[in-house]
Amino acid sequence: MHYSSWLVLVALFSGIVIGGGFVVILFFSVSRSRQAVQVSSNTVPDGVDQILDAMDSAGIVVDSSLNVVKATAKAFALALVSNARLTYPELIDIAQRVRRTGALVDEEVELQRGRFKDASVRVHVRASLLGSRFVVLLVEDRTEGYRLEAVRRDFVANISHELKTPIGAIGLLSEALHTAADDPEQVRMFADRLNAESLRIARLTQDIIELSRLQAVDAVANAERLEIDHIIAAAVDQNRVGADAHAIELVVGAPTGASVYGDSKLLVTAVDNLISNAIRYSPDGSRVGVGARVAEGVVEIAVTDQGEGIPEADQERIFERFFRVDQARSRTTGGTGLGLSIVKHAVQNHGGDVRVWSQPGMGSTFTIRLPEADEPAPALHGPAAATPSQGEQNQ
Ligand code: ADP
Repeated sequence: MHYSSWLVLVALFSGIVIGGGFVVILFFSVSRSRQAVQVSSNTVPDGVDQILDAMDSAGIVVDSSLNVVKATAKAFALALVSNARLTYPELIDIAQRVRRTGALVDEEVELQRGRFKDASVRVHVRASLLGSRFVVLLVEDRTEGYRLEAVRRDFVANISHELKTPIGAIGLLSEALHTAADDPEQVRMFADRLNAESLRIARLTQDIIELSRLQAVDAVANAERLEIDHIIAAAVDQNRVGADAHAIELVVGAPTGASVYGDSKLLVTAVDNLISNAIRYSPDGSRVGVGARVAEGVVEIAVTDQGEGIPEADQERIFERFFRVDQARSRTTGGTGLGLSIVKHAVQNHGGDVRVWSQPGMGSTFTIRLPEADEPAPALHGPAAATPSQGEQNQ
């Protein structure tokens, strides 16, 4: 055979060998990522392999010396196995107990993790004997569930605390009313304070209901095409009396003609909360500005005040439920501690966000950003999208 023909044949052969090698490696790596990993050469009873392979959660089989024989990918992802051993002493203890007693173990354990053991995962472990030599441990990560439960407990505890104060005050004031029954001046004073406390409970329950509604997934199920100038005008109107009472000038910027899709009541509430905060945390006789602009498909509504401002360290936390920079001040101004939480959830429900710029002693600017409604209005977005709104007809 000619020398070059040999060369072609050799090249062809090496190509087939190398290509085949790659295919085999690829096949094994794909199946390894899907299946539970055989950690040692010890064989587990029939059928266990297949069950572990089919499992989405963490499953580990250990032998009589507590060497890990088999473990699912999730067990590695949770770092429950390392160097063919169980990583956490709590799991070793459970496996030993099962071996010793032969009884099934079913319990919740907190596993300390991280280099300094400063983080933890909460897991549910079921462990039992497998044949005479093995122990199988099934581990379910419940950390997220516990975290949500803690948030819920916190919220309930906060609500109870917030309600206790006005309810306690109402009890005391009604006793005081009894005692002062013969003094009309005092009766009037206590009645006024009773009224203020009941208004506070009403505001708090209203805000709690609003927040719960916003946390429901379909808060903006029926989005309408809304004119941002109308939203701002409605929110400003609701604050005129409050501003006048403190000689605060409300300055409204030029109309933008921009539209967004959303729930009118929710958006008015969001802007209203920002304006009423600006008034409450500003000195009498100052100015509060409300303006909007559109840039690159984003509608920005800004509320600016010349008030006391917010320390930088607190600027992220003010959107948390019941967080106040100054507890006493917020209470005396009639705050519930939920206003900014409501703003945040309302705008997030509209695909937007809210930001704050503030400097203590200088004032604050809160900016709501919302996606601008596309032109022309798609018919999919609720009834108002199909029929032009009042403002559009007037243009
Ligand atoms: P609150 O009902 O207490 O006003 P919010 O959730 O509306 O609750 O606000 C949280 C906290 O953020 C307030 O207690 C206040 O300390 C601070 N805050 C909000 N808006 C302003 C503002 N415009 N100027 C200064 N501080 C503000």
